[in-house]
Amino acid sequence: RQERYHSLRDVPTETKDGVPISLQMNAGLLVDLPQLDAAGAEGIGLFRTELQFMVASTMPRARDQERLYSAVLDAANGRPVTFRTLDVGGDKLLPYLSQSPEENPALGYRALRLALDRPGLMRTQLRALLKAAAGRELRVMFPMVTEVTELRQAREMIRREFKHLTRFGHVMPNRLKVGAMIEVPGLLFQLDELMELLDFVSVGSNDLFQFFYAVDRGNARVATRFDDLSAPFLRALKLIVDAGQRHDVPVTLCGEMAGRPLSAMALIGLGFRSISMSPPSIGPVKAMIVELEAEKLSEALARQLDGGHPAASPRQLLVDFAEAN
Ligand code: PEP
Ligand code: MG
Repeated sequence: RQERYHSLRDVPTETKDGVPISLQMNAGLLVDLPQLDAAGAEGIGLFRTELQFMVASTMPRARDQERLYSAVLDAANGRPVTFRTLDVGGDKLLPYLSQSPEENPALGYRALRLALDRPGLMRTQLRALLKAAAGRELRVMFPMVTEVTELRQAREMIRREFKHLTRFGHVMPNRLKVGAMIEVPGLLFQLDELMELLDFVSVGSNDLFQFFYAVDRGNARVATRFDDLSAPFLRALKLIVDAGQRHDVPVTLCGEMAGRPLSAMALIGLGFRSISMSPPSIGPVKAMIVELEAEKLSEALARQLDGGHPAASPRQLLVDFAEAN
């Protein structure tokens, strides 16, 4: 099998019926970077910047942040890299950042909520990103967006830092793309407003699933109780794909489901054309894609999801489809 994955590495990722799919990888530390070439990823769809903060015993200095981001862009060598701003709080606590204990940390003071309230932290990070990407493309993505207004504030912060650095003579990125993670179900009802403000979106299906079904993603007793290949969850994902198409905004998905071949198949059936996963999943997912009849699957899945109360679950349909084709 390993050999099969290896032989696929330099083959373009395309379904059997000719639909190109972009496979990206998730990363967070320098040690992940050699995987870009090893796994044959088209870019980094999710760079989790909080990892540098989590492995440190003191707050990483601005120049250490800049150095890491610059090294990541060097390693990517022109391939796109999407940097997610600090996703801390919740279960990702930093020992050197004082935070009061919370009863429901996943629903608490975390990620963009914290970043907008303590702007010093995010301002430093945004500056480090802007400087590291001098003369190159910079893609910045905000985690745990809940309301469109938060995104307006976050965009305004980037604009101010850009202006500030320009005034001091720093070379700025030659292209800036701003995106948001869709992780909070409330965003599903603001998709049109959201898309108007953004250059791209990425579905954080780990958190979206957790909040959609109200199941703690880290609690094994409940986390497997509901299915991410169930009709309600797939319909939610479809709403996002459709909104992206309406607004011509690229949509990707970077949660764990992207790395499971059967789920990745479902995503392509829903219309996703770009997904990001941990590097070891790229081979198995690519092996599935080159055998997939995307159009046929799309039709079958749409019939299932629109079709009232079919007897079988979407998961069963996907398993049957995979076996028959
Ligand atoms: C997600 O929520 O799906 C995601 C990619 O972010 P994280 O797993 O880092 O919360
Ligand atoms: Mg998340």
